This record gives sequence, structure tokens and C-alpha cells, in this order.
Amino acid sequence: MDKKQIYQLMLKTLRNNISNIDKELKYYHTLSTEDWTDKDYFETLTRAVFSGIKNGIIEKRWPAISNAFSGFDFHKVAEYDEEKVQELIENKKIIRHEGKIKATIFNAKRMVEIIGQYGSFKNYLNSFPSIDGLIEKLQGYYSGFKGIGERNVYELLKEISIQTIKPDRQVQKVFLRLGLIGEKASLEEIVEIGMAMAKEVNQRPCAVDWLLWRFGSEVCKTKNPLCDKCSLAESCSYRRNLTAITK
Ligand code: SF4
Repeated sequence: MDKKQIYQLMLKTLRNNISNIDKELKYYHTLSTEDWTDKDYFETLTRAVFSGIKNGIIEKRWPAISNAFSGFDFHKVAEYDEEKVQELIENKKIIRHEGKIKATIFNAKRMVEIIGQYGSFKNYLNSFPSIDGLIEKLQGYYSGFKGIGERNVYELLKEISIQTIKPDRQVQKVFLRLGLIGEKASLEEIVEIGMAMAKEVNQRPCAVDWLLWRFGSEVCKTKNPLCDKCSLAESCSYRRNLTAITK
């Protein structure tokens, strides 16, 4: 099966099992950062820092998190001191993760520096000749943003409408089960395959990335995948092996 068929069957499965899929997909088909302000970028950056915590919890607490971080006014957040950190750690309405709170304050300071140097965050993004250079620079261990690592940097890129695939565990699992990659595939390989899939189906990578993630978390689950409801079941090597084991 080629990548185009795999994509079409994943979409068919999602449509059969989850309502509103096309509406959600449309968001990524039309996502544009044309009129974003630097504050919008800082909010999205902060979301990426907090990713890894259950999506439902983040959604529910986001208004309180926004409030705690001064509506993502990074000039104000950059001034937060130790006393403020303690106040946030004790705030039960937000996610009281000391590392993520401190990373957000650090990132606010970086934003102030970047805006001072480039005039806007958009100018900063546009200053990179290649996406690889940008990826490297955004990650915390290359003196970029704290709380941004080798996987959630792709989450950030997707949300700021930079067209790439996020090689997270859901995408990796789906590719592995469908035999598109081996156990030891690198993150670069996963991105490459996802990008090739986007090209073959003529869709924006951020929309394909979202579809893969949704499929991996709702259908091709880590435990008890919904193989009986999956249109890929006949050609799925993982499913075939499972069936052989249980026979
Ligand atoms: S493991 Fe099951 S749910 Fe996942 S792709 Fe294969 S058949 Fe579909």
C-alpha cells in the first residue's frame, strides 16, 4: 500500500468513528498566522511547553494559565520574580509544574530579547534560511527556549503554521505498525515519511500531522487498538502479527 492509500484509509476510519473530523481538519487546512501578534506567538510557545500534559486538562485550565501569565504579555512575565513563581506554584487553578512555570518566565525574557533584536517574532522566524536551522535554534539545549525539546519543537512549528510533521510517539507508533519505518527509525526519517505522505495527498503537512496524531490516539491506540473498526486492518502488519499470535 502506498502512502496515499494509507492516508485515505486513516481518514475514512476517523470519519467512520469520530464526529466533527472534517471540521477539525479544516482548522489546519486554513490555519494562518498572517495577523498574529508577538503575544500570540508567546501563547503558542507556552502551549508547546505545557504539551505532554493531557490535552483535556490543558484546555480546561488554559483561561487560568492565561490569567496567571498576564494574558501572555511577555514583557510583564519577563519581570516575574521568585515570589511570583511561588505564588504560581500554589495556584491550584493552573498546572503547578515548577519546571514549566520557570521555563515560561525564561522564555518571556528570550521573547523580549528577540523582539528587541528583530523587531517582531515573525521577523525572527523569517531570518532562518532553512527549517533545520530554526528547529535547532528553538530548542532549549541550543540556548533557545526552555521546555522545548526534540519532539515538542515540532508541535510548536505546526501550531505556528510552519509546514512540517511532528515525529511524536503517536505518529511513530502508526508508522511502525503499518510497516513504514523500523523500530530504530530516527526522528528525521519519521518527518521525511510524513512529509512525503503530505506531498502525495497534496495536503498541508500540519493537516496530515494532525490526522496522524488523531488516528494514533483515537484508533490505533497503544493499548487495545480499535483494529475491528479500522479500514487498514487487512493490510496492517501489526494486526496480522497480533492475529497470528492469538490463533
Ligand atoms: S494496529 Fe489496528 S488500528 Fe492500528 S493501523 Fe493496524 S489495524 Fe489499524
